[in-house]
Amino acid sequence: MSNKVPHVNEQQDDSRERLALVINATGVGIWDWQVQTGELTFNKRWAEIIGYTVEELHPIQFDTWSTNLHPDDLIKATKLLTQHFNGELKLYEVEARMKHKSGHYVWVQASGKLIERDDEGKPKRMIGTHLDITERKNIEEQMVVATQLLNESQQLGKLGGWKLDLKTGDLFWTDETYRIHDTSPEEFDPTVDAGVDYFLPKSKDIITKALDEAINNGIGYDLELETYTTKGRKIDVRTTCTVTLEEGVPVRLTGIFQDISTHKNNLRKLEKSNLNLAEANSALKLSAHYDPLTKLPNRNLLADRIEQAVKKSARNKTFVAVAFIDLDGFKEVNDRHGHNIGDELLKKVAHQLTHVLREGDTLARFGGDEFVAVIDDLSSPSESDLVVSRMLESVATTLNIEDKLLKVTASIGVTFYPLDNASPDQLLRHADQAMYIAKQKGKNRSYIFDIEQDTAVKHHNEELKRIALALNNNEFVLYYQPKIDLRTSEVIGVEALIRWNHPTRGLLAPAMFLPTVEHDILDIKIGEWVIKTALEQIQYWLSSGYDISISVNISPLHLQHDRFISDLKEMLDQYPNFKPESLEFEILESSALKDIELVHNVMRECHQLGVCFSIDDFGTGYSSLTYLKRLPAKCLKIDQSFVRDMLIDTDDKAIIQGIIELAKVFNLKVIAEGVETPSHGELLLSLGSYYAQGYGIAKPMPANEILTWLVEWKKNPCLVDRSV
Ligand code: C2E
Ligand code: CA
Ligand code: CA
Repeated sequence: MSNKVPHVNEQQDDSRERLALVINATGVGIWDWQVQTGELTFNKRWAEIIGYTVEELHPIQFDTWSTNLHPDDLIKATKLLTQHFNGELKLYEVEARMKHKSGHYVWVQASGKLIERDDEGKPKRMIGTHLDITERKNIEEQMVVATQLLNESQQLGKLGGWKLDLKTGDLFWTDETYRIHDTSPEEFDPTVDAGVDYFLPKSKDIITKALDEAINNGIGYDLELETYTTKGRKIDVRTTCTVTLEEGVPVRLTGIFQDISTHKNNLRKLEKSNLNLAEANSALKLSAHYDPLTKLPNRNLLADRIEQAVKKSARNKTFVAVAFIDLDGFKEVNDRHGHNIGDELLKKVAHQLTHVLREGDTLARFGGDEFVAVIDDLSSPSESDLVVSRMLESVATTLNIEDKLLKVTASIGVTFYPLDNASPDQLLRHADQAMYIAKQKGKNRSYIFDIEQDTAVKHHNEELKRIALALNNNEFVLYYQPKIDLRTSEVIGVEALIRWNHPTRGLLAPAMFLPTVEHDILDIKIGEWVIKTALEQIQYWLSSGYDISISVNISPLHLQHDRFISDLKEMLDQYPNFKPESLEFEILESSALKDIELVHNVMRECHQLGVCFSIDDFGTGYSSLTYLKRLPAKCLKIDQSFVRDMLIDTDDKAIIQGIIELAKVFNLKVIAEGVETPSHGELLLSLGSYYAQGYGIAKPMPANEILTWLVEWKKNPCLVDRSV
């Protein structure tokens, strides 16, 4: 073999030229290196790989090659070359980066072999090839990145995978599946049996059956189960299985294995708090609405029933009879035969009375030996005469109780709505008064309440007149009580609370006059005055540079008034600069629940005008979850009775916690009322209730004191103890 090989691509000789063509066509670069002189010969492809023509590179020396090599790879290549020259390596083989003409690096796989040594045995000539492996390398690199990403996301999502080869029985777990099982490939060798054994008994049954179905019938699964890890930690997992078939026969199972404990725990907590709340609600409802002895509605439910009957009668132009029934001679039975017999007698009487009433009428136990019947849908008052006399008869029959023959009678007082155009409370009082007269007239009889004679009715009418006059004379004022964000102490708005500045009796709280107007048109007139005054106040504060939103209490009657929305629109129109978010309404939970359809619609229409709602005194109305979902409110105001005692009463605290959880689920804001001390504020904050109102922050004050208070509060935003 000659020392000097001519350039491969310069061959004149035919056969050599052909060979060169063949080699070029294979895409392999060829090199031939005179180790001692450094002279390097190469073919066209060798030059092409790094972006040159042969001419451009000619003549090239060994150092031209080495300077084109990536510095990191040069070290590696030199080391391998030395090893090859020493005879340690049979072949020289390296993957290295070479600089391309346009500046970037390409990956080249170089292989070579020493083919000649000089007389002293030193390397003389070496030949070899270059292959462009850039594409393969890029794919490899992408694979590494993709695998890393996959691994990371699997770790983040606690999402592992598994594969079972049904032919060999080999089970493969991904790294994350090991991690979920608190183990590693070094520590644990997974088998199907071992994997299944870790499941809790119920889950084990399910997974065993599911695997059986997959292996034998080719049916996959997607299950949420409970398992232990190899370290005995209990976790919730989601495990899925997809079956691969070959010629209809399952050959491989693959699936995911995901740790869903966090998600499951959150769900469980939520379910539990919902359940607790629902249970508490229904228990409360029951004890709050029914008499345990006779199972009849109690006073609370009675008030509701009277109200409904009154409404229905107004709609249908019918009459309602409210009959107050008091037993004559019951005390004697009790004294002579004892309480147990007395209780049995009451149960029997209740039963007899229910019997003579029509379906749909209400019989309630008012207390002791007093019952109230509400008979509605009467086309005339006299239509109830028959029922009343049957009630008298049914009580007066001799009753056999534990072999004792007992006899009592009843005195019944009756009043009729709307002849007696009074509130439910007053209707009851009037029926009670009439019952007294029946007793005075000799018992075992009924008496009808005499409206003309009644001083209470007269008094009520006078009060109404006086309140109407007060409205005319501008004797009402609005006080404002701030609401704050406990986290930042920022003031989020104020609640408007009405007062009557009475010329002789002084400043009167709403409890002194609002109940009087409760069922009267005046209630709506006062409500309108409050909204108008609040709007003027917002406007005034805005013009003084203060953007303070006001919440206004809306009475049930006002809210359900057919002109509520149109009147509101008219009022809002008078304040063109006004941002509707500055006005908010507070409605009682109980009124929100009354006519849910109607209230829902009114609320929605207000929302469209930009005015939103809070549910006031929340916790006292036994709202069910389904109702709450339907009410488009923004905020719940926790009733102050719960807040006041939450520091000492664990039940109240639990109710508050329940309400906070509930609010979270429905995405509602929660305001706690009645925050009287700094400790209230701290506890609420720790429970996650962030908004508060109460004497501890500020008592309600006249409008002209609010701005001064705001400045003071900014300077020193501290709650004080104002508990009484
Ligand atoms: P509310 O809507 O629950 O208003 C809160 C009541 O709690 C106010 O009584 C307020 O002065 C009082 N309060 C606030 N913080 C505390 C505290 O820390 N401790 C205690 N013990 N009480 C606190 P107020 O002003 O006597 O009003 C009583 C109720 O009258 C109101 O209860 C509301 O239902 C009704 N009301 C007041 N103004 C209006 C009004 O303009 N329209 C209507 N329809 N109802 C009104
Ligand atoms: Ca309120
Ligand atoms: Ca309230």
